[in-house]
Amino acid sequence: TRTQDDTNLPSAAKKDMANYLVRLEKQFTLTPQRMRMIVDSFVEVLERGLEKTEQEVPMLPTFVFGWPTGKEKGSYLAVDLGGTNLRVCHVELEGDGKFEVTQTKYRLTEEQKQGDAQGLFDFCAECLGNFVTDHFGDEDGKVELDEPIPVGFTFSYPCLQEKIDHGVLIRWTKGFGAPGAEGKDCAALFKKGLEKFNVPVDLVALINDTTGTLIASSYVDQATRAGIIFGTGCNAAYMEKIGNIPKIKDLGLPEDAQMAINCEWGAFDSTTHEHLPRTSYDVHIDETSNKPGEQAFEKMIAGLYLGEIFRLVMCELIDEGILFLGQETYKVEKPYVFDTAFLSLIESDTTDELLTVTGLFAHFFSLDTTIAERQFMRRLAVLIGTRAARLSACGIAAIVSKQGLLDEAYDPAKMIGIATDGSLYNKYPKFPQRLEEGLVDIFGEKGRSIKTYHAEDGSGVGAAVIAAMTKERKAKGFA
Ligand code: BGC
Ligand code: MG
Repeated sequence: TRTQDDTNLPSAAKKDMANYLVRLEKQFTLTPQRMRMIVDSFVEVLERGLEKTEQEVPMLPTFVFGWPTGKEKGSYLAVDLGGTNLRVCHVELEGDGKFEVTQTKYRLTEEQKQGDAQGLFDFCAECLGNFVTDHFGDEDGKVELDEPIPVGFTFSYPCLQEKIDHGVLIRWTKGFGAPGAEGKDCAALFKKGLEKFNVPVDLVALINDTTGTLIASSYVDQATRAGIIFGTGCNAAYMEKIGNIPKIKDLGLPEDAQMAINCEWGAFDSTTHEHLPRTSYDVHIDETSNKPGEQAFEKMIAGLYLGEIFRLVMCELIDEGILFLGQETYKVEKPYVFDTAFLSLIESDTTDELLTVTGLFAHFFSLDTTIAERQFMRRLAVLIGTRAARLSACGIAAIVSKQGLLDEAYDPAKMIGIATDGSLYNKYPKFPQRLEEGLVDIFGEKGRSIKTYHAEDGSGVGAAVIAAMTKERKAKGFA
């Protein structure tokens, strides 16, 4: 067996690693010029989506009308079916931009993600029911309320909405596959579950996590211009003038009013693959996924995939006899065993010896690593993490350009707020800095006016604020 230093690593392998790195750097690096080209095509695609929904990036109207005032008030429940967890929250909006949240989290199992859809929505309903009993029930668990509690349902998948408490699932993303949901109104499926378990609530709104982030952030900070999730999946929402959304013209809504748009930008470049610099690893991920040919942009950025990209490169080097010579590598050869959190760990190790990396490989994969191998891994993590951030910057830049926020009239003293949430943004070292560097590469000094920041909890607080806004609208007699 090998020792921990690299004295007996054949020098050929070290040289091969170096050669490989040169190749990988070429494949994963995005020049500012390339980024600007991506932005230009991205803007066109966003505009096309506003004209017609049957487009790659569908630009979905959300029926969330305009910004919150910050005075929204009351007691709400929120159910958040994300990519990894199910969360139930009670949100108390205090009417002065302040709020309090109590929540319970449940881990979703693979069976729930792939099993019958009604079962999944029933599970959501059952969890909500238990939560209501725990928080609003008497000693015997009996719940007596004057009126049902309003619920916002954060269902973060592309949905076609004709009104706010309705949403036909266009396609599952983030590895979900539960049959019986695509093409169906998922608000209705959830309501069925609520009836089954007699949960005393009123489903007011179905929302996307990005829309929730946009609204929750704006509830406390008026500079917000977009809401973006960099988590298991990746997507953005922003506020659009209704007059700029040709495809809903027939609804006869006031042209000057505003509506939040859920871009579903993860689908960018999925059909023609002419804009994004995809590598063979990206192609492999796509082709072996449960949804080949979909979410091309998301698959290069989101937390669900970055670890897998890393693993695929590693496996290629194992096959070539460059990494882990003479060791049993089967543990690392299983698809998706390399979590994106491992990339975060590798990138946060700043010691010379990269001892965290040593520990990681020993502990999770029973592999010894040489220092040269660890340095290679670190470089690779930087390449994959940086590409993800720079592609994300292209998406943000497209939304900023589309809205003309940096056009002649822009005021350099005024910040363009990009409210952001998700594990990649919150936990991946340097992701926010790389994003902002990318924006400066695209826009030059002007790009510094764009500030990204961690937003309030969009799927909880945002859902509550949207439920409050919707109730107010209804009370004023709007549909
Ligand atoms: C979904 C979006 C969601 C994003 C972040 C994507 O896979 O399609 O609806 O906003 O993930 O959760
Ligand atoms: Mg989430």
